[in-house]
Amino acid sequence: MTDSQTAATPQASMRAIRVERLGPPDVMQLQDAPVPSPAPGEVRVRVEAVGINFADALAVAGEYLTRTRVPYTPGMEFAGIVDALGEGVQGVQVGTRVAALGGSGAMAEYATVPAAGLIPVPQTLSGAQAAAFPVSYFTAYHGLKTLGRGEAGEWVLVQAAAGALGTASIQLAKAMGLNVIALASTDEKLEIARTLGADVTILQDDPDRVKKVRDAAGGKGVPLILEVVGGKRFQESLDMAASRGRIIVIGNASREQANLRPVELMKRNLTVTGLWLTSLMNDAPATQEAARALAELVGSGQVVPQVGPTYALDQSVQAFEDLLNRRTTGKVIIEPGR
Ligand code: NDP
Repeated sequence: MTDSQTAATPQASMRAIRVERLGPPDVMQLQDAPVPSPAPGEVRVRVEAVGINFADALAVAGEYLTRTRVPYTPGMEFAGIVDALGEGVQGVQVGTRVAALGGSGAMAEYATVPAAGLIPVPQTLSGAQAAAFPVSYFTAYHGLKTLGRGEAGEWVLVQAAAGALGTASIQLAKAMGLNVIALASTDEKLEIARTLGADVTILQDDPDRVKKVRDAAGGKGVPLILEVVGGKRFQESLDMAASRGRIIVIGNASREQANLRPVELMKRNLTVTGLWLTSLMNDAPATQEAARALAELVGSGQVVPQVGPTYALDQSVQAFEDLLNRRTTGKVIIEPGR
């Protein structure tokens, strides 16, 4: 490696979170680990901020869509400063702030990532804002547009509206001209949804929520629903949907099983579509289209990634517990340099 490829030789060891057995958040341990060297085609990033997703907590618990192999360092999305380039990497400048979406390894002071997995971000974003961007905004875009085919003037229902995905979904939906009904568990969370432009806000546990949602959308139900809670709430989403409604299944925050009787879909010509960002990232045209649209919206300041509570690396267990127990809004961020 030449000097031009390395910002400064970092210390030999770093602090990193390690998971040796799967379970609740307190299986995560802060340990010393060697600073990784970038392999050919990779870059090393000094991690400024890690975006913590519900999926990270499910992966640590061994409940994610894919099997979690231990030992490992969690953290799938992060932002930081490019610190060293592996052999053959071109077009990436040391010293540039980048965001990245990888499988794991970001909950550490340094992380390596394939250069192809870097996501350019406007240099006006802070590290925390850049880390709050990839997962939530790409997922929201695909839910609203790629799979949801939302059109300006239509109503969309956003659940967990003050969360990371929820806040991203409200902002993007409004930027696309959709009308938003937001559901969340507390008045404080609904206030956040209103601040971001939600047109109608309803408490998640309001006993009349199904009727109120249907009424808000002109009494006919909602044409597009971003479903993230699952369990019995999934059944309610079917009841809230308009005839020919599209229900995009994105998450299962309740961690409960849902029942789907296909004949119910027939009665009102409903469509239920699954969305998993990881597999959509392999769809190059869809990813490029989302990246183009998002770069414009974020670059112009029309959409601002919502940073939630921030934690130091040694507060990671607390961060995960707060996320799982619905105590957070916006994107939960861990700052390894703190
Ligand atoms: P959030 O910041 O939205 O936090 C989760 C929120 O879910 C909570 O704050 C809570 O909001 C709501 N929630 C509802 N019921 C429960 C429950 N029983 N237990 C805990 N939380 C509950 O997290 P994320 O933005 O990371 O993720 C939101 C959802 O989207 C998750 O289900 C996640 O798995 C999914 N997701 C899926 C992706 C994909 O590729 N398919 C990509 C990104 C996210 P409230 O208190 O208002 O109800």
